[in-house]
Formats: sequence, structure tokens, C-alpha cells
Amino acid sequence: MTNVFLNIKTHSALGLIMSVFISLNIVAQIPPTPGSDDAERIEAIEPFHIIDNVYYIGKTSHNPSYLFTSDAGHIIIDSTYEEFVPDIQANVEQLGFNIRDVKIILSSHAHHDHVGGHALLKEVTGAAVMSSEPDAEVIETGGVADFREGDPWHVGKVDEFILDQQVVRLGDIALTAHFTPGHTKGCTTWTTTVEEDGHQYDLVLLCGLRMDQNSPLVGNPKYPEMPKAFAYSFAVAKTLPVDIFLGAHGYWFNLRDKIERLKANPEINPFINPEEYFRIVEGWEKAYLERLKRER
Ligand SMILES: [Zn+2]
Repeated sequence: MTNVFLNIKTHSALGLIMSVFISLNIVAQIPPTPGSDDAERIEAIEPFHIIDNVYYIGKTSHNPSYLFTSDAGHIIIDSTYEEFVPDIQANVEQLGFNIRDVKIILSSHAHHDHVGGHALLKEVTGAAVMSSEPDAEVIETGGVADFREGDPWHVGKVDEFILDQQVVRLGDIALTAHFTPGHTKGCTTWTTTVEEDGHQYDLVLLCGLRMDQNSPLVGNPKYPEMPKAFAYSFAVAKTLPVDIFLGAHGYWFNLRDKIERLKANPEINPFINPEEYFRIVEGWEKAYLERLKRER
């Protein structure tokens, strides 16, 4: 495995000033939430190789963006914030890939922190944006069509709808879409198979099954089927085979800890760890069942 941590990112003086400026700007724009993950939201991390043809290119550990590479072109899952797109581009190039070779942009779900950069990333790459239909509506209204309220973002264009169980192929990349609605109506969990040292591993990129804390789960007029959607999605999530757990936020799978472990010993891949996946899915399901009981 190549140790990408040895590649130190070089900034021009202006670039450094700009990135400091952008970081400060983001601190001002993104309201800090209580919890232990605040530093994760603003500290830029180095891009790195996860496994096989999968790379981490998110600006921060809180807002992952993933690159899947092939000889026929690349796929990015989650553009994160528009302000992070220049960093994503720099990260792709730092890893030795051409941003214009990105042919498809996918997403975990249509919230600002995952698709806010879609419009700019599409412009930079020339790639096609593909999304589940319910999330496409949210992307194409810059968040206005979402059932929960949040800051709007720049409207993106969706080129193609994805169906449940559809396999998105590009070269030897094959990503299967599993609709796991609830967090958004078109929340999509992605799976694929990767290889390392002659072993095959099932990789799951979890959309997330967290409920919104500020709107009702039961009887939500904008999303009356939400409780059913979550129940369905927990059933789906629990049946997926998983060796490698990735997700829409880094703290779900202890990303920062894994980065440190990878630096300390590149020979042992810390991402091969299925237990964390079931632990977080069960935790979310427990929270869901408790809330369902309370609201009914
Ligand atoms: Zn979200």
C-alpha cells in the first residue's frame, strides 16, 4: 500500500492565506453543534488511500468525500460543502488523479453538507450527477424541497435518476445503490466489493439512519411515512454484508483514530472492522424505537 501521508501538501503563500480565510469563513458559516466533533469540522486532513481503488478526499474528517477510481474514469460520492470543493479538487490531484477524469458524482443524501458542492464539482469535473429521485428534487432546489428546514445551497443539476438496487458501473467500479430512506427521502447506502492482498471485502458506505432532532418523527406533515421508512431502512442496513464500514460522517466509524493507526502501521488496514457498523446501526435503531414509543 502506498503511504500517501508522506506526500505533504504544499501551499503557495496566497493559497495558504486563502485557505485560512476560507476556513475562518466556514467557521462563521457552519454553526458549531454540541459534542466532541467540533474540531473535526474545520481541521483539514490529508487525502489518503483507504483500500483497493477507494480514496478519502474530503476536506475534513467530519465531511467525507470518497473517490473510486478506474481506468475508464472515476466516481466521487459526496461533494460536501461548495466551499470545500477546491480542497477536494486539490486532494484528487495530490493523490495523482486528474479531476477531469471524474465522470460521475453520487451522494449519500441530499443535505447541504453532502451535496452543497454538487453544482461546483460538476462544473470543475464535467461529470454527470446521479441521484435517487426523491433526493434529486432536493438537490435541484438547493435544499428547499427537503422536509426539514436548513440553509439553502446552490442549486445543482441532476443528470440521471438512480433506482433502488441499481448498480452504477464505470470501468471496473460497480457501486450498488440501496435505498435507506428516513434521514432524507432518498437516502442511499452504497455497497461494493474491494480486494486487498488476495482477499475480497464487502464495503458499505452508509447514508445514515439518524433522525432529525428538531422535527417530529411521527405525524410529520411533510413526511408522514417517515417512521415506516426508518423501519424499512434498519431492516435493509442490518442485512448488508460488511467488512469495511464507511459513512457520511467520519466520527461514525472513528475516522480520525483510523488515520492515526494507518500512519502508525500502514501494514494493517484499520478500515477492515465490521463490528463498528452493527454497533452504530443498532444504536440508531434503539434511539428510533424509543422516540417512536414516546411520540405515539
Ligand atoms: Zn444529513
